[in-house]
Amino acid sequence: MKNTTYDVLIIGGGPAGLSTAYLCHKHGLSYLVLESGKAIFQGISNTYPEGKLVYASKPKDAPMPFMVDELRPPDKPVTVESYLQYVQHFVQHENLLVQTEVDFEDIKDERDGLTVITSKGNFKGKKVVLSFGSNIPRELTVYGDAKMVAKNLDDASKYVGIKTLVIGGGNTAADVIINILKAKREANDTHPVFWAHKAEKFDVNKETAQRLGEEILLGGNIRLLLGAMPRIGEVDDEGVDRLVIRINEFKQPDGIDLYHALSFPMQNVIACIGSQGPVPIFDKLHIQSIACTAGVCKVAQEGERLVLLSAEFESTRKGVYVIGGAISPSYMRINEGSIAEERHPNLIYTAINDAYYVVEAIRAKLFCR
Ligand SMILES: Cc1cc2nc3c(=O)[nH]c(=O)nc-3n(C[C@H](O)[C@H](O)[C@H](O)COP(=O)(O)OP(=O)(O)OC[C@H]3O[C@@H](n4cnc5c(N)ncnc54)[C@H](O)[C@@H]3O)c2cc1C
Repeated sequence: MKNTTYDVLIIGGGPAGLSTAYLCHKHGLSYLVLESGKAIFQGISNTYPEGKLVYASKPKDAPMPFMVDELRPPDKPVTVESYLQYVQHFVQHENLLVQTEVDFEDIKDERDGLTVITSKGNFKGKKVVLSFGSNIPRELTVYGDAKMVAKNLDDASKYVGIKTLVIGGGNTAADVIINILKAKREANDTHPVFWAHKAEKFDVNKETAQRLGEEILLGGNIRLLLGAMPRIGEVDDEGVDRLVIRINEFKQPDGIDLYHALSFPMQNVIACIGSQGPVPIFDKLHIQSIACTAGVCKVAQEGERLVLLSAEFESTRKGVYVIGGAISPSYMRINEGSIAEERHPNLIYTAINDAYYVVEAIRAKLFCR
């Protein structure tokens, strides 16, 4: 346990988390951002296509300007690369406190605050702001533990010189493979990339398929594993965590099945199996959400569960706030005794402005204004 008790612990270093950090810094609150990625804005760098323009979009009916001007995208759209570069300079210049490669796991209530449990130990805070976005990678469901499997490609050169397994049947998996094949080609590495998918057909768009075809024609060594199922996470005799993936299965009449499987060190595996909303995390944290019933919700569909928040974005777990993409496109807002669905567009504007309202609310609570 680190000894410091921060006023605010911020989970996720995207537009919402960094705006919260900057406002805490400006108002003299102690804070720390815990980001799972290698760098700030990892969510954006993972999901925006190369060269995408970033728009300073603002919902039509929003009365307020961007409340943290320093982090807003410029009015004249710039590429995602230049926006990221600008934000990195800003964070360095302001000396904002961020720890990267820290995976948030849980929150424990203490007598004098909250303890945040992470992959890199525990941190204590008076308040916690959850700003981990909407893009939560799905976990591989295998018997045993498969936590060490990467969910995205942060550095293709890491896979040069090793046999790599990419799991998933869509564009994201194909993109990851293209980048690894390119890195291998540039390094004259002929080790193959295995591409596994549980179905019998991949599902990629034409443009991605063309780029992949080009890499294969340029010498890319790729092995396709269709109908392949990741089954077990295990530790071998040398202490290496491995993932076992079944590539075919023969049912026998005597009930003893025969199968072929491949076993990869988990550090050679990337699972691009899509993302899910944050509801499972809210459940784990015992943060209440409510299922929409017919006629109650306009944005969410019937049966969809929406997180329950106060007008100041505080969840049903005292001292824990949720903002940004994590609560988009709508949430349930408690206001003066009634509960109604509140529209919440997934935009940088919304993420930044949520941070403003939350920091104001936290300041009022901590300093009893
Ligand atoms: C392709 C694309 C294009 C878009 N274009 C625009 C645009 O032009 N203009 C616009 O206004 N909006 C755009 N958006 C939406 C905008 O990017 C989001 O609204 C915004 O990024 C939300 O900010 P956030 O901070 O809430 O979440 P994110 O940006 O997702 O940041 C969350 C951060 O939390 C980290 N994290 C996740 N889980 C954990 C964990 N367990 N522990 C620690 N850290 C964690 C992530 O790595 C990430 O860095 C676009 C979105 C997409 C997908």
